[in-house]
Amino acid sequence: MDPRRALPSVERVASSLDGLPASLLTATARDAVDAARAAIEGGATPTEADVLADAAARVDAQRRRLLQPVVNATGVLLHTNLGRAPIGDEALTAALTIARGASNLELNLVTGTRGSRHDHAGTLLARAVGAEAGMVVNNNAAAVLLALGALARGREVVVSRGELVEIGGGFRVPEIMAESGCALIEVGTTNRTRVADYERAMTDATALLLKVHASNYRMVGFTEATPIGQLATLGSTVMVDAGSGLLDETTPWLAEPPRWLRDEPGIRQAIADGADVVTFSGDKLLGGPQAGIIVGRADLIATIAKHPLARAMRADKLTLAALQQVALTYLSGDATSIPLWRMATATLDSLRTRAHRIATTVRLAAVIETEAVAGGGSLPGLTIPSIGVACTVANPTTAMAALRADGIIARTDADRIVCDLRSIDPDNDDIVARALAAL
Ligand SMILES: *Cc1c(COP(=O)(O)O)cnc(C)c1O
Repeated sequence: MDPRRALPSVERVASSLDGLPASLLTATARDAVDAARAAIEGGATPTEADVLADAAARVDAQRRRLLQPVVNATGVLLHTNLGRAPIGDEALTAALTIARGASNLELNLVTGTRGSRHDHAGTLLARAVGAEAGMVVNNNAAAVLLALGALARGREVVVSRGELVEIGGGFRVPEIMAESGCALIEVGTTNRTRVADYERAMTDATALLLKVHASNYRMVGFTEATPIGQLATLGSTVMVDAGSGLLDETTPWLAEPPRWLRDEPGIRQAIADGADVVTFSGDKLLGGPQAGIIVGRADLIATIAKHPLARAMRADKLTLAALQQVALTYLSGDATSIPLWRMATATLDSLRTRAHRIATTVRLAAVIETEAVAGGGSLPGLTIPSIGVACTVANPTTAMAALRADGIIARTDADRIVCDLRSIDPDNDDIVARALAAL
């Protein structure tokens, strides 16, 4: 008999599967049966049990590709691959409340006339940094592209050679500049750019002087950058891509400014120093949803908001609702309900207590001192003292895979697995303890 006739039917295989919508299970069953048929044609002899096991493995792989929560035990607070900033409960509730029904997204409730979606979060964030106006788009890459396109298309933008950076994920300043239709005028050198360099490059065609926060790298030694305050004296419009979204260098929303935060430029300070437009991310040091925020002079924000691309990049109501709550939280002067700041400011003692509680349930586990980082392309080279649970394992690669199967993303340190407590939500400590114990 043709061994292909002995293979189970697609229906039989599909009925052995669960965990995905029926149409996906049927398609997966068909893939498994087809693969078995091809294997037979290649000389193999898969049994019915082999086909069922293959189909189940395919379902498992598909389920693992679904977007799902994981535990961030990496010690990188804003982990790009893990969704950057976690969003706080208040902001999530706000998003849920707005998304579930109708809202005044573009309606002015006082006049009854058409309103703007920038009137809520955008305006509040502008308030929070002392700017005249603000608006919100999908992410900071969009904010930069849009602001450049609206303010400088067909004209010249002067940038220091030291700031022609790649932020990661393909965001390269010269390429964004080309996409937005501006001519890039490079000035200075990689390590030093003075105000006179900008001044010499200015012509009638100059639309903007652009400063880009180098975010993910740091220059040391014989370096010099031109402060915003000096650029602002040159008479051209000054735009700053601040990246990380630290609203105020003095962190007035925290009881004590964290020492590791030094040197990170604040949005409020950029505006106060004379920047006309500043762009930043919503989900880095702001600790909110993915968004790109543009704050600055009211006339420039109006020009940007009117640009045709603004419609293509606008933020949706879920984002705007969450971001509005984040802005209100900062304006209240206490941002400890923002998960990023909770993680960042947790005391070493509190982390150590949690680590000991986990370690006592795990054989061969040790509580160690670690160094966490902010991540998300902010604060390069700066570390945040932290505490971890370390387990010595025979094979770190398989141990990491086993933890991933439990939804835990840890890091390795030689032959040890380290779970850094600073990036772990305390609600997940038990999950981490159980997974480590099972290693
Ligand atoms: C992160 C970053 C961007 C990109 O922002 P996204 O919100 O990821 O789009 C652009 N510029 C700077 C300086 C950044 O740090």
